[in-house]
Amino acid sequence: MRIVVTGGAGFIGSHVCDRLLAEGHHVVALDNFLTGSPDNIAHLIEHERFKFIKADISVWCWVEGPVDAVMNLASPASPVGYLDNPIETMIVGSHGTHNALELAYQKGARFLQASTSEVYGDPLEHPQREDYWGHVNCIGVRAVYDEAKRFAEALTMAYHRRHGVQTRIIRIFNTYGPRMALNDGRVVPNFVAQAVRNQPLTVYGDGKATRSFCYVSDLVEGMLRLLWSNETRPVNIGNPREMSVFEFAQAVKAAAGPACSSEIVFVQPRAERIADDPQRRQPDITRARTVLGWEPQVSLEEGLRRTIEYFRKVT
Ligand code: UDP
Repeated sequence: MRIVVTGGAGFIGSHVCDRLLAEGHHVVALDNFLTGSPDNIAHLIEHERFKFIKADISVWCWVEGPVDAVMNLASPASPVGYLDNPIETMIVGSHGTHNALELAYQKGARFLQASTSEVYGDPLEHPQREDYWGHVNCIGVRAVYDEAKRFAEALTMAYHRRHGVQTRIIRIFNTYGPRMALNDGRVVPNFVAQAVRNQPLTVYGDGKATRSFCYVSDLVEGMLRLLWSNETRPVNIGNPREMSVFEFAQAVKAAAGPACSSEIVFVQPRAERIADDPQRRQPDITRARTVLGWEPQVSLEEGLRRTIEYFRKVT
């Protein structure tokens, strides 16, 4: 197969490229490096089945020759990434998704949209099932991401209904692993980088907000199973093991080993960083289990061990 990956130099995109190449496919990756990095794909540049095009898909998204699938992963994805790039985030979710859908439509390719648990906003239902419509503040600071992804889902369904494009929508919950950007501000790179430097682990607010963390190889497995399935409804992919941010800080400290002297401290970040912060988040993965036969395999302890090993090399 020949597969286009937008956002191919991002954290998740680069792992998707690795996996597709390992399976023998041809990969064309597009990225404008707004939040992705050339470092993430440096090991692939010489690969004979890998091609990279530096492009902003909000403006231009085209690939010559046959295409079997388009995986649309291009977007800032961390709160700091989208708070710092609010307009780019809305434009890539709208114009960028439109351009990527047109590419799939013109080529007769299947299309996978990377969506997010953020479509559920600060959820009033727990855990979150795919048929929950969400609770999003459409003028809040997070709306630039949440509404862009909601629009992207709606546009994806419009191409499916109007043009019969074979579309897939994955709702990605908190995912972590090697190649997360050190400075992307999310809780995993923050805590892991702090732990390997023996600096305090900065818990925002009271640390009672919950998240459920999925290791990147599990996520990629679920994404590819969905791509090749016949499921056109959205599918949650995430790890249902829920914990508070404070508990997560303890887990990172434990995973860093006895030599880690970091304290866990409570701090108040800039107000917009925690405005509309979802208080609880946990995927209901019944659909993924039933339709894709998928569930996560990598424990938090093992995933953190691999992530810490990577961060030790890059910090
Ligand atoms: N968080 C924290 N300390 C940090 C970074 C984040 O306590 O150094 C909290 C943040 O307030 C939120 C949770 O961790 O409650 C997850 O935030 P993250 O930025 O990783 O992504 P989100 O899940 O909100 O998209």
